[in-house]
Amino acid sequence: SVKENEPDTMPPLPAVKCRRKSVAHPEINKSSKRQSSVAKPPDGKTKRGKFGEASRPNQKFYEMIQDFRETLEITPLSTTDHIEPHRISVCVRKRPFNKLEITRKEIDVVSIPGKGVLLVHEPKQKVDLTKYLDNQLFHFDYSFNETSTNDLVYKFTAKPLVQSIFDGGMATCFAYGQTGSGKTHTMGGDFTGKQQNSSKGIYALAEGMPTWISLLMSASSRFTMEKTSGQTSANANSSRSHAILQIVLRRNDRATTMHGKFSLVDLAGNERGTDVSSNDRSTLVETAEINRSLLALKECIRSLGMNSDHIPFRMSTLTKVLRDSFIGEKSRTCMIAMVSPGLASCEYTMNTLRYSDRVKELKGNSKANC
Ligand code: ADP
Ligand code: MG
Repeated sequence: SVKENEPDTMPPLPAVKCRRKSVAHPEINKSSKRQSSVAKPPDGKTKRGKFGEASRPNQKFYEMIQDFRETLEITPLSTTDHIEPHRISVCVRKRPFNKLEITRKEIDVVSIPGKGVLLVHEPKQKVDLTKYLDNQLFHFDYSFNETSTNDLVYKFTAKPLVQSIFDGGMATCFAYGQTGSGKTHTMGGDFTGKQQNSSKGIYALAEGMPTWISLLMSASSRFTMEKTSGQTSANANSSRSHAILQIVLRRNDRATTMHGKFSLVDLAGNERGTDVSSNDRSTLVETAEINRSLLALKECIRSLGMNSDHIPFRMSTLTKVLRDSFIGEKSRTCMIAMVSPGLASCEYTMNTLRYSDRVKELKGNSKANC
């Protein structure tokens, strides 16, 4: 009942299927065979669920997911795990439920059994009303569960990129996902606001972590650092614009030329892809630009993965701003896809994962030589 997810834009060719062989933990595959995901017929109204909880909306699906989880072997990522160098890395982070979701007894449809693996348990119903779970399996470079701290996320995502800017490269870290999925929480506050609350995010950590400082020290009074920030739209609603923070490194003896650059990008909410209900022309134009920029971003990362000379950065404002991030042997990119845990967000979560899965497919031969 676990199926490999297919790329969003291509029909499922047999060759693609073969190549995308599952590398899931053997227990996952085993359990999927053991698990019959078709529910038994409704057994009357029960006040208490099988797991001792008071009944909730979609209780049957809740029980099916819990049953499935019992068969999973969970090995969470730990700080001592090996960090693999990648030119392009694609990771996913699941946020915890918020208070409102807990009150509403929302169902958690996302499981993260181990390093890089993520499962979405999508509730489905057959025409005869039989309920079943469509368990979809994804593999990323790293997957962070709801208990992961910003420190852990930083360690496996932005931190490995820091050295590259001292080596004269471009490092870019993207937060991608639906509004409310944790992009700003991960990146560290509003880059453009006056009162930045960035004490814990990647933005703060990239500045404050010992590696960063010690590298700066060993390279000091040779380099100067310059920070710039901005957003791609004047819209006050930050979920409708991409916020970008850039740290430029200049060598003191060549102050006019840039040595390296670190870009942190808090992308606009990707739910705009389906947001066509508005009649307001400027909103529609903005939605089109957001969609175009997210598509362009995918294409530019593809060019980077292929070491292509042609980078389609002119396609959008975002990629124009980030133009030099996609050029050169020393460029490194990390995309962190954020997902909400709840059933109510399932469709958005699947969109986010499909996009990120596609970016991962475009990585090409992107293993770094370091
Ligand atoms: P986005 O920027 O994607 O719209 P936010 O970062 O603003 O989402 O997150 C939405 C809410 O969820 C915020 O209140 C934030 O503090 C909380 N949140 C997000 N991710 C986490 C997390 N990993 N742990 C705890 N709270 C989180
Ligand atoms: Mg935000």
